[in-house]
Formats: sequence, structure tokens, C-alpha cells
Amino acid sequence: MKNPPEQRSARAFGPVPSRCLGRSLGINNIPPKVCSYSCVYCQLGRTIALEIERRSFYQPEEIQQDVLERVARARRLGEPIDYLTFVPDGEPTLDSNLGREIELLRPLGIKIAVISNGSLVWREDVREELGKADWVSLKVDAVREEPWRRINRPHPALRLGSILEGMRAFARAYKGKLATETMLVRGLNDGEEDLTEVAGFLAELEPSRAYLAVPTRPPAEGWVEPPDEERINQAYQVLREQLEHVELLIGYEGNAFAFTGNVEEDLLSITAVHPLREEAVRELLAKAGADWQVVRKLIDADRLVELEYRGRKFYMRQVGGRLGL
Ligand code: SF4
Repeated sequence: MKNPPEQRSARAFGPVPSRCLGRSLGINNIPPKVCSYSCVYCQLGRTIALEIERRSFYQPEEIQQDVLERVARARRLGEPIDYLTFVPDGEPTLDSNLGREIELLRPLGIKIAVISNGSLVWREDVREELGKADWVSLKVDAVREEPWRRINRPHPALRLGSILEGMRAFARAYKGKLATETMLVRGLNDGEEDLTEVAGFLAELEPSRAYLAVPTRPPAEGWVEPPDEERINQAYQVLREQLEHVELLIGYEGNAFAFTGNVEEDLLSITAVHPLREEAVRELLAKAGADWQVVRKLIDADRLVELEYRGRKFYMRQVGGRLGL
């Protein structure tokens, strides 16, 4: 869910449209690239400084000033802002001023989000500071040691068990909206067994949304690939068995709830978020007074794919922007 580097500036950037957060003004409270993980799919490249000690990177007032200027500019231009989002060039909770920064931004009256890898939530101070935000996303790519190490390449002092326990504690106490993000990487965490375990853990957290993402921009490691659509649909279905709200992030800013009246566009934007069963597709076509020809045409144009899962047919938008190459 990070924004592409070309849209970023020093410590505040945007607002940019975000599927999860509407129009989001990004806050970059960590210089490139300080992180507790070095994920194989990271679009910011390999981690330069692999760290877990929290420290101060900027004065909180500097961040506040940059955000104030950006907000004033957006307001002058009549651009709405739905969220101020901490989505830096590294892990936002490494910033020991995070809580103070959230407090300084509160008077703006705009909701605040933090997109974190969750690796430091075993710390009480991190849970407390994240708790001040209105929306928090935690990364859960794997709940088993081996895939976790292979995908996220954590700092050697991190312990997966403590992280998962910290996430449980945070989810229990958190009053805001909790989201989770699981990045699927072909051959690393896209097997049914791994996904069932991830789904079980996510169900314990009861997130308001569980996002399933695939790498769609050039990753840190050139060999990283998204799973094929069959696997992505399988992952979606496995999570849906245990969780109410699951959404795909596969490279399109599809909005499953905004109908344009154009049946092709609606079908593509819905299936970019939720793979649809055949019956649901037929229903949608009937409402629009269209027939199955629309589906055939989209499949022939490689925009929609037909998939089978447990004897049922599903339709999903083809994965887009394959690694931006
Ligand atoms: S946690 Fe985020 S910033 Fe850090 S390496 Fe992974 S994807 Fe990149």
C-alpha cells in the first residue's frame, strides 16, 4: 500500500488516491530506507539500515510543519483529504516521536492512519502510540518461522512469536479501525496450508478489513513474482472462510461499491477486489440488461479470468501491472 517513489517528497506528499483510505496525504517520517524488515518484494529496494531500536529521525515540529503546508496547499486547490497517512520509506514505528507527531496533527481534524509492518508491536510503547491513530494496518505475510524469514528477512533479534502476541494484544485493546495486509509471493507463502494458518491468525485479530496484495511494482529482488490468478482466488477463498471482510489489492484501484453504469467497467472493478461467483456475475449482467457476451469479450481480451475453486466457477480481474515492467 505504499505510494510509488515518484509521488513522494521530503516528509509529506500527496494527497494521492488510495483504495483503502480515499484521498490520503502521505507522511514520510523515516528516511530511506530504515526498516526492521528487508522484504523480498519491497518496492523501495533492499533495506539500507536494518534496525529495531526506536529513535528520533526528525523533530516532530518539522513533520507537523510539512504536513500543515501540504494541507493548506490542498485546501487552496480544493482537494479533499480523507486521511493523513504515515507511510514512510521504512518502518514508521521505528520513529520514537510517532505518538507525539500524531498528537501534533490532531488539531487539523483529519483522520490519521499508520501503515506498519507490525514487527515492533511486542513493545508496549509502540502499541500505545499506534493506538492514537484512527486506522492502523499491520503486515501479516506469514505466521510460520520459515516463510516469515524468507519473505520479510527480519532483523535477527526479532522473534515471530512475540510479534504475533503483540498483534493480538494490540487488536484486543485498539479502538480504531484495524486492517491487515498479506502480500502473496509465488512459491513462498501462497500454499493452502500457509494461508489457512494465516487466515486462522487473522481471524483472531478480527480486522475490519484483511487485504490480500500481490507485488505489482518492481521488487527488491528480481526473482519475486505474484502467484497466478488461480492461487490468488484460492487465497481469497481460504481467508473468506474465516473472515468477513477480505479484499484484493492486485494493482487496480477498483472500487467494488461505485457503480458507473458501464457493465464492463463495473465487472472489472468489482472483480479486482472480490472474485465473483458465476451466479453473481449473471445477476450483475441481468441488472444491466447485458448478456454473457460481455464476459466472453473480457476473457478474450485477457482482462478477466475464469477460475475454478472447489467445483465452482469464479471470475476475477487479471492481475495488473505485472511488476510494473
Ligand atoms: S516492511 Fe515495508 S518498508 Fe520494510 S522492507 Fe518490508 S515492504 Fe519495505
